[in-house]
Amino acid sequence: MSKPLENKLALVTGSSRGIGAAIAIRLAAEGASVIVNYAASPARAEKVVKEIRDAGGKAEAVGADLSTIEGTNKLIASIDQAFGGSFGGRLDILVNNAGSVVFGPFMEGAEDSYDKHFNLNVRSVIALSKDAARRMIPQKWGRIINIGSIHGEHAHVSGVTMYVATKFAVHGFTRGLSRELGATGVTVNAVQPGFIDTELSPADDGSVAEAMKKLTSVGRFGRAEEIASAVAFLAQPESAFINGENLTVDGGWNA
Ligand code: NAP
Repeated sequence: MSKPLENKLALVTGSSRGIGAAIAIRLAAEGASVIVNYAASPARAEKVVKEIRDAGGKAEAVGADLSTIEGTNKLIASIDQAFGGSFGGRLDILVNNAGSVVFGPFMEGAEDSYDKHFNLNVRSVIALSKDAARRMIPQKWGRIINIGSIHGEHAHVSGVTMYVATKFAVHGFTRGLSRELGATGVTVNAVQPGFIDTELSPADDGSVAEAMKKLTSVGRFGRAEEIASAVAFLAQPESAFINGENLTVDGGWNA
């Protein structure tokens, strides 16, 4: 039986670990050929690629630091060469997942961190989406899925102001672009996770993590695979009528 994403090329940014790795593995399990992007962890990216191949899927890793314009351009250029050029420059699914958090009081933060943070969390999302849309519009089909955050809807906690600013930008960009592309067959949506157990926010990280668990109605952190299943849902051909949505996956925190 054919898989729902068979013959589709997917690019998942920041997929050497955490939520991105789970998304890459899930999309590959649904039949997509997946470009696994990383910045600092080639060995981890190769581990994700091996896991996908061992399960019968298709994947390859591309190193590119998306906090720089050069790195973002490098990743864009790699799409033409993906899987030996067999997709001919096509791209079907883009998941903008790579992101980072600057913790600490805003007034004590270094001003020279602004560009790096915005380049990764916002600029790379915009540049990759524009390139993806150029590829997707002629084929009248595409899925752009941005990983936002519940911090992109409310400033729930103190000390992550820059992160909140970047994730609000991701949500705004998602809605704006969905309007422009709606009639082309390309959908643009976001998934906004609550607390997910990854290296970015470990569930066993002491009293703060325990307090966070109590804020969710299900009483626990989410698993990266639970974000991956929301992304896989939006990537399906059957999800064509969902556009401009910020899908919350937070164990009921925002309720
Ligand atoms: P994570 O465990 O820290 O993993 C981050 C991933 O992004 C890694 O694969 C890392 O690759 C990659 N990355 C980091 N800097 C990069 C750069 N400059 N260029 C390219 N790739 C880069 O994070 P996560 O928890 O999985 O979070 C993934 C996304 O979900 C982020 O956008 C985050 O804001 C969002 N999110 C997470 C949570 C949560 O609770 N975990 C909640 C809401 C939203 P390398 O190691 O190779 O650099």
